[in-house]
Amino acid sequence: MEKHLLSKSTFIRGKQCLKSLYLNKKRPFLRDKLSPEQLAKFRRGHQVGSLAQKLFPGGVDFRPRSPALYQKAVLTTQEAIRTNSYNIMYEAGFQFDRLLILLDILVKENGNWFAYEVKSSYKISDTFILDAAFQYYVISNSGLTLKDFIIVYASDELDYKKIDEYENLEPLFIKESVLEKILPLQGFIREQVEKEKETLLLKSSPKIEMGVHCHIPYPCDFIGHCTKLADKTR
Ligand code: SF4
Repeated sequence: MEKHLLSKSTFIRGKQCLKSLYLNKKRPFLRDKLSPEQLAKFRRGHQVGSLAQKLFPGGVDFRPRSPALYQKAVLTTQEAIRTNSYNIMYEAGFQFDRLLILLDILVKENGNWFAYEVKSSYKISDTFILDAAFQYYVISNSGLTLKDFIIVYASDELDYKKIDEYENLEPLFIKESVLEKILPLQGFIREQVEKEKETLLLKSSPKIEMGVHCHIPYPCDFIGHCTKLADKTR
């Protein structure tokens, strides 16, 4: 299996800005240092991810130990699905058309497959829908039919300061189906994927001016680099 070109995070990066996608892949050394707020956000995401796994106990974890093992994780997942080995899988790997995803939780129930994606926010944003649409695109095109795609997010009851103290997790998470929102986005995902792949074939980064998109939905980590370039041309 060939190495992937895009993952869900690089896909979302490319949707925000094709130049950021290009720089991230070809000039990663130009990235700004992570701010303490960004580091805290990453940590919170990991915490909620492992807590949410406790909502679906008894599964098997396919999380690859290093990026070099991503494709192996995909093959392991395929085999587990083919042989009906487990009903709950964490970080199940899927690859289609050199697009890779590691799904937070894959559940088999009454013969049907359900995808669960865990978010550390208190609500579902448009970016989460896009992220889910990308994952659905990869999973369904790689041959697995999903009965539903569900986003799990924090309820107002969840207080991050007390995160290690909770015993009953059930009331702390909301499970919401987003299938009806992501199905109509499948054509868009295909077009965006093509755009991003074409960008990665360029010999130099695409000419994109700075603007509001540098901060939405996430602060871009090439702002320092692009600001310096913009200053030079003034
Ligand atoms: S700083 Fe703005 S223009 Fe530069 S790569 Fe990031 S999003 Fe694109």
